[in-house]
Amino acid sequence: MFVEIKNLKKYYGEKENKISVLKGIDMTIDEGSIVVVLGPSGSGKSTILNIIGGLETPDEGSVVVDGKKISGKSSAEISRYRREMIGFVFQSYNLIPNLTVKENIEICQKLGDHVIDINELMKLLGLSEHKNKFPRHLSGGQQQRTAIARAIVKNPKLLLCDEPTGALDYETSKDTLRLLETIRKKYGTTILMVTHNEAIGKMADKIFRISGGEIAKEIRVENPQSVDEIEW
Ligand code: ADP
Ligand code: MG
Repeated sequence: MFVEIKNLKKYYGEKENKISVLKGIDMTIDEGSIVVVLGPSGSGKSTILNIIGGLETPDEGSVVVDGKKISGKSSAEISRYRREMIGFVFQSYNLIPNLTVKENIEICQKLGDHVIDINELMKLLGLSEHKNKFPRHLSGGQQQRTAIARAIVKNPKLLLCDEPTGALDYETSKDTLRLLETIRKKYGTTILMVTHNEAIGKMADKIFRISGGEIAKEIRVENPQSVDEIEW
């Protein structure tokens, strides 16, 4: 099993103000699969992603990725794990405003050993003609594609996407999801997306429905659809 999460719990706040955000999450993810966590706003989706991505620490439970336990590790070990294993596409893109598209990607490439060629990647993501632009001069879709390029240029085994279509219109959302399909096929990347968009679940190999910090349902999809087959 590529990712194995057991009894994951997370609290915020102290003492009487303490709230339980994740109440014992169990999840498994196969290598090379696309998994979608579906749930309403506030259900704990970003918290799960941030813990798997090493940005937050769990209070209880275990997270094992590619045979390595990441829960309870030192910050140096977590930094290395993030550098070597994880690509993260943030909801707000997190591009560096005073660097061009190409420079934004280069700075991430430097962090990894098994890197993807930047020109190849920019071509794949339709960014070649925008490579010298600054983020403020890009459309939402172009910013999102730059964010995806930054996340995968180190060729991570696991790509985590927080609401990847959250701020995009319908056509641009489909373009973005098609690119994620292509990335999975070309590089074998395992992709975990969290979203409130039900339609995205149709492209998944497995869906977890989350509600109030608990997995309400786990669905293994027999025939995942390609982005162009999905009725939106
Ligand atoms: P989702 O991504 O599904 O919208 P989140 O994981 O962001 O949900 O948040 C789940 C719950 O945890 C929400 O009630 C949110 O307000 C709370 N929460 C998230 N982060 C923090 C934090 N750093 N401090 C306190 N509460 C938080
Ligand atoms: Mg969220």
